[in-house]
Amino acid sequence: MFDNYEVWWVTGAQLLYGGDAVVAVDSHSKEMVDGLNQSGNLPVKVVYKGTANSSAEVEAVMKAANNDPRCIGIITWMHTFSPAKMWIHGLKVLSKPLLHFHTQYNAEIPWQDIDMDFMNLNQSAHGDREFGHICARMRVRRKVVTGYWKDPATQGHIAVWERVAAAWADAQDMRIIRLGDQMNNVAVTDGDKVEAEIRLGYHVDYMPFSSLMPYFDAVKDEDVDNLVKVYFSEYDHDAALEDPTTEDYRKVWNSAKAELTLRAMLKDTGAKGFTTNFDDLGDVDVEKTGRGFDQIPGLASQRLMAEGYGFGAEGDWKSAALYRSVWVMNQGLKGGCSFLEDYTLNLQGAQSSILQAHMLEVCPLIASARPRLEVHFLGIGYRKSRTARLVFTGKPGNGITATVVDMGNRFRLIVNDVKCIEPQPMPKLPVASALWIPQPDFETGATAWILAGGTHHSCFSYDLTPEYWQDYAEIAGIEMVHIDRDTTIENFKQALRLGEVYYATNRSFYL
Ligand code: MN
Repeated sequence: MFDNYEVWWVTGAQLLYGGDAVVAVDSHSKEMVDGLNQSGNLPVKVVYKGTANSSAEVEAVMKAANNDPRCIGIITWMHTFSPAKMWIHGLKVLSKPLLHFHTQYNAEIPWQDIDMDFMNLNQSAHGDREFGHICARMRVRRKVVTGYWKDPATQGHIAVWERVAAAWADAQDMRIIRLGDQMNNVAVTDGDKVEAEIRLGYHVDYMPFSSLMPYFDAVKDEDVDNLVKVYFSEYDHDAALEDPTTEDYRKVWNSAKAELTLRAMLKDTGAKGFTTNFDDLGDVDVEKTGRGFDQIPGLASQRLMAEGYGFGAEGDWKSAALYRSVWVMNQGLKGGCSFLEDYTLNLQGAQSSILQAHMLEVCPLIASARPRLEVHFLGIGYRKSRTARLVFTGKPGNGITATVVDMGNRFRLIVNDVKCIEPQPMPKLPVASALWIPQPDFETGATAWILAGGTHHSCFSYDLTPEYWQDYAEIAGIEMVHIDRDTTIENFKQALRLGEVYYATNRSFYL
């Protein structure tokens, strides 16, 4: 998916030092861009766009970046002294994420040979400060990465930003389909869909269940049979489940038909995510008509999440969109990600933890072992039925979870570092799950999450780090609060109070 994207590199220069200097600057820049691309550390290709030597050239390249759908962001570097007033008009129009790279072509000072020519070609210490000032003065949101361009740690910061910029670009034409509404009276998963589109880019549409039925009717039995075979080959299961004369086989078969129905709808509408509501599976008598979903499409949701479709249960469109973005950022990384829900507490003093699950909808990308396909009775929702699902537990290890809530005058991103631990077997709760201790500890982590107004739904990843979410919040221009090993309730409350003041009075975050 990153192959469809590119990041543009623009080098700031000027003609003060003569044409020869700019020629040298240009060749250094090319070498650096090639070096970054060949490092193997960047997921998105960097394309060198030349030196910008005047206000008109800066503005032209920024406008071109805005208009090129492949370009997901701009890296600027002031090789030499690039007077920052040159950047005002370009920065005013730039609508793509910006990374200001404070680096230098040359690594160490050549003490014996250094002269004024060297200075003129290695002047980022000077030029990047000038550029930094105009960004600060104009309140331009950006990431500043500082370090030597060949250093893998420095390249790692660029890589994080590239992944976030890709998720951001992906969200700008994201459509989320809601099958059914929120659960009645639920506040935290709801919010302002208009503001979400203005601020975060994605669009949320409602689709009545009746509009899903033509996709259902178009699914071929042969395709369902084949998908059921895939299930049996991919997942552990009881041999008896393969007996086509049993009710449970029929439940698996109907689940496969639900998956094919939903995927066909998502492809046809171009949607990147969807929500369901367990109280709304279409007002039809499935047993009588043979049309519609005879069970909550949990297995379908699990598998579609693994494929990258955003998913939010109970109408939670914000989580559906955020999960899709997490999945994009996670591409090519090893740990996996999932939509999760705080389910029940395990109160054990300092070792207290939270069981993360859902009725069914947990993504198998986080599974510690091959998932198991099982069918059990599910008594929730108006269509109580034996229901197919993948059962597994999440891997132990460190991860991070995030949610976005609507505070009325702004969106707040809440992020919590978590430590996943091994759960005990739960023979009477056959659902996919994970068990974690929020950092810095259960008491502080859960208290802070609740003080911030966080959801019971969140989007979890083993691979992302706080830096991803800092970059995301910076690009989106939304508040972020982070609960980590250093959090105390006192300092966290102070962060929330500062956010109230900043977002109540400062409208520059809309730039
Ligand atoms: Mn839920």
